[in-house]
Amino acid sequence: MANIIGLTGGIGSGKTTVAKVFATLGIPVFNADAVAKELMQNDPIVKLKLIELFGDNVFANGQLDRNFLAKIVFADPHQLERLNAIVHPITIQAAKDWATMQSAPYVIKEAALVFESGSGEGLAGVIGVSAPLPLRIHRVMQRDNCTKQEVEKRMQNQLSETLKMKLCDWVIINDDQVLVVPQVVALHEKLLKQFSMDNVNPIKPP
Ligand code: ATP
Repeated sequence: MANIIGLTGGIGSGKTTVAKVFATLGIPVFNADAVAKELMQNDPIVKLKLIELFGDNVFANGQLDRNFLAKIVFADPHQLERLNAIVHPITIQAAKDWATMQSAPYVIKEAALVFESGSGEGLAGVIGVSAPLPLRIHRVMQRDNCTKQEVEKRMQNQLSETLKMKLCDWVIINDDQVLVVPQVVALHEKLLKQFSMDNVNPIKPP
């Protein structure tokens, strides 16, 4: 199985943007948040569990009603915990299954919640993407066409940026001041060296 490197950061820090640079460099990327959404929409067991927990209205015309679900879980941390207990383990397993099929020296697993969800287990390291809070809020308001309050509400369920970055092995600064691509290229070269070395079998004495 390829070495899995986590890629995390707060909402709007630029994880997806950084992941795209790794992908351009030929590194396979697993987007945990996208896969989790896909599983909620299409996995029959996950769907049944969601209906059992949140009622039939969680699906409208067969489509997951994300607004309905968001209203419930962002208003009540206990409900969010119950949702995560369904979605996180199956997404973690999907990432492991995917990684076994990759032959690159390392792969990237992009996830908003690495330390919060227990999905840090089994990772060969974690890259953090760091950006100042006002810039993150501004980016998400522009991208999702939503209010400052809505962004701040989503941010409440995440670890503070400072703590998150302290837990990471490498940090990419995405603050509109430092260029991102050269930072990713330099880290990529470092990771290639590190994980290609791991793949070399030491010569055994006769
Ligand atoms: P989320 O956690 O909400 O999924 P994210 O961490 O994946 O967010 P992105 O989607 O990569 O963040 O970035 C948020 C928005 O900011 C996007 O619209 C993206 O295009 C923009 N953005 C991020 N980094 C940069 C940058 N360096 N230059 C210009 N725009 C950027």
